[in-house]
Amino acid sequence: MQFEAHQKETVMLNPMKNMQKRVVPSEIRLDPLTGRTARICHFMKLSWPKPDFKQIVGGSEATCPFCPERIMKITPCFPRDIIPEGRLTSDDLVLFPNLAPYDSLSAVATLGSRHFVPIAEITAQWIAKGFGLAMDFFKQLNALKHPESVYHLINWNYMPASGSSLIHPHLQVFATSSLPNLMREETAAAQTYFNKHKSNYWDDLVTEESAADKRYLGKIGRTTWLSAFAPMGVAGDILAIVDRANVTLDLTADDLRDLATGVVCALKAYDRMGIYNFNLNFFPGAEQDAATRFRMLLSPRTFFNQALGTPDVGALRNLYNETLCMAFPEEINALLKPEFE
Ligand SMILES: [Zn+2]
Repeated sequence: MQFEAHQKETVMLNPMKNMQKRVVPSEIRLDPLTGRTARICHFMKLSWPKPDFKQIVGGSEATCPFCPERIMKITPCFPRDIIPEGRLTSDDLVLFPNLAPYDSLSAVATLGSRHFVPIAEITAQWIAKGFGLAMDFFKQLNALKHPESVYHLINWNYMPASGSSLIHPHLQVFATSSLPNLMREETAAAQTYFNKHKSNYWDDLVTEESAADKRYLGKIGRTTWLSAFAPMGVAGDILAIVDRANVTLDLTADDLRDLATGVVCALKAYDRMGIYNFNLNFFPGAEQDAATRFRMLLSPRTFFNQALGTPDVGALRNLYNETLCMAFPEEINALLKPEFE
């Protein structure tokens, strides 16, 4: 397995220091599986001022469709042949069809009745409960042998910079036979790796990264936590790999709790940096496929300019799909690791 990085240098002259020469380093990294490139550049101290949450959140509960006084009146229901109860519930968590579906079996699961949950108050128990409700949905679809019940995906956009249009915490929960781009590329690349090396890429990654201990964060139950070598997020990505699990339905209640526990560890460290938005996605493999493993990716999100609402995704990422991370993943790892110990 190769962890390939190419160092670059930019030379500039500083007029405020008598045209003194300044050399700014940057790096292009190749993802060891797909060869996808990620730029480590635009270096800054990973510290963002926190906004006035009262201003962001204040008043938004008055029209929130997911707040308890509205949710059961205005959210749609599944047809009886899909979900006989119409919606699935678990205490105050509710799962219902997504009004803007990504695919034919597309749902939203609210994470309870509380309108705003600050990042520091997110608990593992709360996340695990949300994952558990999504699993109930996936199990029902699977029992129906629905043709779209192939890949069972959870996406979480937490707070506006992540792409969320609502403050009220909720998961995007969907099943599809059509793999999203990156999952398709990784699945194909993992198969190529398997054919070449006669071993599972993800298992090998866990072995190599655990031994090298540069990007290793820890192990919780059978889940290994790593800082991604070629991250997509501006403040690094956290990768969780569940040993011996391939598909989402392979996850046990213990796995869901362990995944949730690791997320909370990472969020504690990111909260200290001032990060208060993130994306989280499930990356399941295929059933009976020795080349795949279940992964979960957590990627912090921020604004490049809070006052202007400038997103951290510009032309480079949007049209070239080229990513940038504003610190070396190994340095970010050092900031996160104490939370996993
Ligand atoms: Zn709400």
